[in-house]
Amino acid sequence: MQPTKLLYLEDFTQLESTAQILDISEENGKTVVILDQTIFYPQGGGQPFDMGIITGKSGIFMAEEVRFVEGTVKHIGNFSRGSFTSQETVHCSVESRIRTINSRIHSAGHVIDMAIHALKLNWIPGKGYHFPDGPYVEYSGKVDAQNKETLQKDIERIANEFVQENRETTLVFNGPTRVVMYGDFGIPCGGTHVSNLSEIGKITVRKIKIKSDVIRVSYAVEGV
Ligand SMILES: [Zn+2]
Repeated sequence: MQPTKLLYLEDFTQLESTAQILDISEENGKTVVILDQTIFYPQGGGQPFDMGIITGKSGIFMAEEVRFVEGTVKHIGNFSRGSFTSQETVHCSVESRIRTINSRIHSAGHVIDMAIHALKLNWIPGKGYHFPDGPYVEYSGKVDAQNKETLQKDIERIANEFVQENRETTLVFNGPTRVVMYGDFGIPCGGTHVSNLSEIGKITVRKIKIKSDVIRVSYAVEGV
């Protein structure tokens, strides 16, 4: 199978596109649709997958799950009507409410990175979890347990200052690498992001948890 062209890497504001059907198969009682190109974000980098609708001449497909498997994006779900034919041109539409929430939560994680960088804590970013049910970012580094509460407030305050600066996010391509610029702060990341940091809304740093040398910063964004 040829690799799927990842349109969301070039423009994460694009929620509608056309694509060509390359393959339709069955897997575990679900239908898997492979396209030549996609705007659907497959789960990865701690960010949940997009959902949405793929519409063709004689079929409507509900994409309930999107996964990246060896260069190919699998759109997994069910036909609510008809089916597609091979090579057919279809219309893809990403559910904007879910994408917006995912991008806001994901971008907030990077803004927390920026705040930690600004505080010169020398923490090394590790895993991120950007799901609505309790997002967090993890770091390896040192922190004095007594300073935890002050730190929590400082990170929250600085993160919200970045949000209020209305920084635009822009894309810089360097060969195969894409760097997302949050103002002057560069982030090499393949996820979807807000176009302007103000779209994130207020960030709350809920908790800092230290377990051996892993520091977990749990956060929330306004209204999620
Ligand atoms: Zn990211």
